[in-house]
Amino acid sequence: MNNKIIIQSDFDGTLTQEDTSFLILDKFAKGDWRKILEEYRSGKISVGQFNARAFAMVRASKDDLTFLIKEKARLREDSKELIDYLKGRGFRFVIVSNGLEFYIRTMLEAAGINNVEVYASGAIITPEGIITNYTAPAGGDIDDGFKEAYTRYFKQKGYTVIYIGNGPSDAQAARLADFIFATDALLEYCQQEKLNFAPFATLDDIITRMRTLPLANIADTVAPLTNRGFDLDSLTT
Ligand SMILES: [Mg+2]
Repeated sequence: MNNKIIIQSDFDGTLTQEDTSFLILDKFAKGDWRKILEEYRSGKISVGQFNARAFAMVRASKDDLTFLIKEKARLREDSKELIDYLKGRGFRFVIVSNGLEFYIRTMLEAAGINNVEVYASGAIITPEGIITNYTAPAGGDIDDGFKEAYTRYFKQKGYTVIYIGNGPSDAQAARLADFIFATDALLEYCQQEKLNFAPFATLDDIITRMRTLPLANIADTVAPLTNRGFDLDSLTT
């Protein structure tokens, strides 16, 4: 068991083909949730505020949501193979997502993927909307910087962190990781910032690369955190 290496993976757009939150909001939100998305993408509101306001517009029962997810939401090909491979090598595999734990677990179960650690938004489904909230690694509520809070926490616990992600919301977490598998917007970011990364187009690409990645020395191949544009004080909180 290699308990010093952790694989932190994003969910939507990384292990899935589409963003599951958007699928739910497009179908069931009563109101202009995309306007709130614009506020989030332009940095005016936090991810926690986006979730709270957008999911409050959803008018659907748990059964409605489960039906939609099972009918329309799809994991990427080889998700199960990737997770089985990583766990088979004794790595700790965790999903840390800005999405809802409810749909992540529904999708994993439907694909026969069990016993995966998931850290994502809680969701209480009510007739007046879905109430969301994030819990920080050490407990308590957190409204922003959810993914990087977990990366920082894993680093503090002494783990070498390998990050898998696709989007702008992965950037700050990926910067803290020792190695990154990136696609789409995160790939562009890694290239621009010259981070320690490998691109992927399919999840099988990650399996292939992991077979030859020199894990024992991986942390030595990147600049220390002090040289990477971070305020170290902010890392200890
Ligand atoms: Mg994503």
